[in-house]
Amino acid sequence: MSDGTDIPFESPMIPTKMTLDDTFQFRCHKDIACFNQCCQQIDLTLTPYDLLRLQRRLGLSSTEFLAQYTVPFEMDAQAMPGIKMRTQGDTTVCPFLTPAGCGVYEDRPTACRYYALGLMSMRAKDSPTDEDLFFVVKEDHCLGHRESQTQTVREYRKDQGLEIYDEINRGWRQVILKKRSSGPSVGKPSTRSYQLFFLASYNLDGFREFVASEGFNDIYVLEADLLDILRTDDIALLNFAARFLKQVLYGENSIALRPDAEARRLERRSQRLAAQPQFTEDRGYDEPMVD
Ligand code: SF4
Ligand code: SF4
Repeated sequence: MSDGTDIPFESPMIPTKMTLDDTFQFRCHKDIACFNQCCQQIDLTLTPYDLLRLQRRLGLSSTEFLAQYTVPFEMDAQAMPGIKMRTQGDTTVCPFLTPAGCGVYEDRPTACRYYALGLMSMRAKDSPTDEDLFFVVKEDHCLGHRESQTQTVREYRKDQGLEIYDEINRGWRQVILKKRSSGPSVGKPSTRSYQLFFLASYNLDGFREFVASEGFNDIYVLEADLLDILRTDDIALLNFAARFLKQVLYGENSIALRPDAEARRLERRSQRLAAQPQFTEDRGYDEPMVD
């Protein structure tokens, strides 16, 4: 199952852009001869909401899920951090595949739901809005394209439960799209920005601690009721994470800063460096710092 979020060279995708009301011919079902074939050759990029759903289902913390089920990769030439599903041992088989099918079906990731469609979100340079385009992905092993059923992209997305996934991931996708559509003009984000991107995108438990930390609240002003919501509401926290990343990476300020935040940040930083000179080196993703 190829990841439908980008179109690689020599892609199996049919190079016809479709919109929500275009139709395509495809049906996947348990009695098809290729059942489970796609889950034996995976290359799945995971989104923040994918991680949250799987983590909740398995009863794991963010760090436990990341360690057991994911591998990091670089999403672009500037090493923007991404996460892929880890496969079983040295095979290409999904860890959640069972003889009866997907072992996490109700919480399967976005890319599994989209297959055999690919999604490509695009934003023209300097445009404030993005556009979703869809492509049919035809791989030799997949016999679903020979079935007679046709449907619109809209119907397929609804049937696959994708609307909520796309809605919740929209802010995060916009962060990535903005970097792609801005090209070199946005520059390479700093190591610290990438650490924050990783934390806010993939380590929701760590991001929640970060938002509740003294360091964060020394710099940002959050209303008490919003802080309360972020303590318990995962979806609100994902939405807030996207806002935070737009501010950190692109200066789209929607979270108020304390007036003396920069001076106090620099003061704390120099105090820490004086007390622990090696602190700036090898700062891990799980050690969220605002400076
Ligand atoms: S999560 Fe489920 S549907 Fe997706 S590749 Fe794994 S077994 Fe297949
Ligand atoms: S029809 Fe395609 S998507 Fe469905 S099980 Fe077969 S290979 Fe997988």
